[in-house]
Amino acid sequence: MDAARPSENRPISTRCCVVGGGPAGMMLGYLLGRAGVDTIVLEKHADFFRDFRGDTVHPSTLQVMDELGLIDDFLKVPHDKLQKLDNCYGRTRLRVADISRTGVKYPFIAFMPQWDFLNFLRDKGRRFPSLKVMMSTEATGLIHDGDRVAGVRARDANGAIEIRAELTVACDGRHSIIRPSAGLKIEEIGAPMDVLWFRAGKSAETESVLARVEAGKMIVTLDRGTYWQCAYAITKGQYDAVRAKGLESFRSDVVSLAPILKPGIADVKSWDDIKLLTVAVNRLKRWTRPGLLCIGDAAHAMSPVGGVGVNIAVQDAVATANILAARLASGGTVSEDDLAAVQRRREFPMRMTQAMQVFVQNSMIRAALKPGSGPLKPPLVARIINAVPWLQGLTAKFIAVGVRPEHVHSPEA
Ligand SMILES: Cc1cc2nc3c(=O)[nH]c(=O)nc-3n(C[C@H](O)[C@H](O)[C@H](O)COP(=O)(O)OP(=O)(O)OC[C@H]3O[C@@H](n4cnc5c(N)ncnc54)[C@H](O)[C@@H]3O)c2cc1C
Repeated sequence: MDAARPSENRPISTRCCVVGGGPAGMMLGYLLGRAGVDTIVLEKHADFFRDFRGDTVHPSTLQVMDELGLIDDFLKVPHDKLQKLDNCYGRTRLRVADISRTGVKYPFIAFMPQWDFLNFLRDKGRRFPSLKVMMSTEATGLIHDGDRVAGVRARDANGAIEIRAELTVACDGRHSIIRPSAGLKIEEIGAPMDVLWFRAGKSAETESVLARVEAGKMIVTLDRGTYWQCAYAITKGQYDAVRAKGLESFRSDVVSLAPILKPGIADVKSWDDIKLLTVAVNRLKRWTRPGLLCIGDAAHAMSPVGGVGVNIAVQDAVATANILAARLASGGTVSEDDLAAVQRRREFPMRMTQAMQVFVQNSMIRAALKPGSGPLKPPLVARIINAVPWLQGLTAKFIAVGVRPEHVHSPEA
């Protein structure tokens, strides 16, 4: 073959083609590889170094790592730990969750850059001969065989590829191209905010407050050791208005809300240092078509509230492998009922989590972002939780472990 000329429609065949190497796709790839299932994971980027990826590894995911025998190596990857979640409403500091009260085996959230998390899974998965992760390979559409999805069309630097698979799993996130190609209907729930994501340098001074809320403003500051990772919430669709006021006005708004950022805000030199993240909350009515399953954000886009999306995606992957790995490994056909069993298993936890996120978005964040003057009154629910430490364990359990946590039951080849 002429190396300089792209080849056309190289055919590949596999048992399972996973589209997207985010938390859902990399965890599913790992679990299927571990079960000896011939699996290809497609990731359109050349590496995992994105500007933004959720960085919170919750106790539910740490438990999965433990069950896979990976936890000791995983905790050697540099990370910061968070146990107590405190918010400041004006000058009032309230504790809204305390993971040390949950009784879980790993009672903390590990803040780890997501590229480290995904690289870890990729490196550990290299020992499985049946798992192939194809970077810089973008899925462009589905292959249909009558009513059934029979695989994926993709392209890489060498041209088009046709990957035929018994099962295709869409893990390609909120902007999934697979779900519209399969004609799956999305139920939009919506969110009142978008997020401006930026880094500010860190001085020796530190503070364990997570969210700071003033009338009309809200910021979350994550202590990342050498810098602050900041998420500044704005009313949905107001990015242009915020920009029109100028960078100086933005920086001074940030510092007035979080004085701890004063020394480091100079790192935000231009609007190029600030990334707009549009927040979406939605879900598919049906996660499946014959031969196709959607999981993670491709099935249900999660809000940043609670920092749970990565962990829900991992839980989806664990449930998918628990239900389907043995069937895929044995060479059997994956039926629509098998696929529907994954949706049945995961839909309730996902709906409960989205309900919590929508409650916080609508009752707290919407109110916080309403322009106003004068001191902000902390929400009643936050005051009650702060006053009753037992409740801080309950909220923490919901965030840290979620509803109906998954445990690894998929086979190991
Ligand atoms: C502003 C904001 C902040 C958030 N903060 C947090 C947080 O702190 N903690 C948390 O747990 N969650 C957070 N979330 C939610 C979290 O980011 C998602 O729920 C989670 O990333 C979903 O994982 P996933 O694997 O399903 O999808 P994704 O993480 O979106 O991964 C999809 C992958 O598929 C790849 N891909 C896409 N299309 C193709 C294609 N055609 N071919 C091949 N590859 C493709 C992408 O490159 C990507 O690697 C946040 C969300 C938002 C919007």
